[in-house]
Amino acid sequence: MASNAEDQQNQQGGHKEVGHKSLLQSDALYQYILETSVYPREAESMKELRELTAKHPWNVMTTSADEGQFLNMLLKLVNAKNTMEIGVYTGYSLLATALALPDDGKILAMDINRENYELGLPVIQKAGVAHKIDFREGPALPVLDLLIQDEKNHGSFDFIFVDADKDNYLNYHKRLVELVKVGGVIGYDNTLWNGSVVAPPDAPLRKYVRYYRDFVLELNKALAADPRIEICMLPVGDGVTICRRIK
Ligand code: SAM
Ligand code: CA
Repeated sequence: MASNAEDQQNQQGGHKEVGHKSLLQSDALYQYILETSVYPREAESMKELRELTAKHPWNVMTTSADEGQFLNMLLKLVNAKNTMEIGVYTGYSLLATALALPDDGKILAMDINRENYELGLPVIQKAGVAHKIDFREGPALPVLDLLIQDEKNHGSFDFIFVDADKDNYLNYHKRLVELVKVGGVIGYDNTLWNGSVVAPPDAPLRKYVRYYRDFVLELNKALAADPRIEICMLPVGDGVTICRRIK
C-alpha cells in the first residue's frame, strides 16, 4: 500500500514509486549542494573561469560547477594521465581535468572554436596547468580517424570526456571505444538533454533541443546495448553517462 507521502507525490505528478530514490526534488536542494559542497571547495581558478564564462553570451554551454567537481574527483579516482576532451568552449571541464592530472598528464582537447578557448586560457595558464593541454582547433572526427590509423594509440587513453555535437556522439563512440584502454572511462555529457528524453512528441521544445533529441535517444539506447562497456547514467548536470570499457 502506498504511504501518504507517496500518495501526495503521485497526485502532484511527482516521482511516483521511485520518488524516494530520486535525489533532486527541488531547485533548493540543488542550491544546497552547490553552497554546501561545491562552492566552498571550488579551486580559485575554477571560480574565476566560471565567473568569466557567466558573462559570455553562450554561457548555457558551460559545465556546471557540481559536474566540474565530479569530473575532477573521477579523474583522480581512476588515476587518469592520458586524457581527451571533445568540446572545450571556454574550458571549465578542461580546467577541472587539467587540475586533476599529475604534472606530466596530457589532455588532447578539441573544439571547432579557438576564440572561446582563448577566453579561458589566461586563467588556465595562471593556474599553472596549460602545459598539459594540446588544443586542436577543428572538428574532432578527423582527428579521431587519424589517431585510429596508428595502432599504438589503441587503448592508450585513460579518460575521455565528450561534450560537443550530439549528432556525432555515436560516430565518436565507434572510435573512442577503441582508443580508450580496457578499464578506462568515457563520459558522454548531456544524455538527459534538458529532460527532453522523456518529453512527449508534441511537447514545445526549443528548436535545438528538438533537433538533437533523437540523436541523444539513439545514443542512450546504443550505449545500453554495447557489450564492450559497463555504463552508469548520472543525473549530474544535464545527465552524464559514464562508460567503462570492459573488452
Ligand atoms: N565542455 C565545455 C565546458 O565545460 O565549458 C562545454 C562544451 S560546449 C557544450 C560544446 C562545444 O563543442 C562548443 O564549444 C562547440 O564549439 C564544440 N563543437 C561543436 N561541434 C564540434 C566538433 N565537430 N568538433 C569539436 N568540437 C565541436
Ligand atoms: Ca555539456
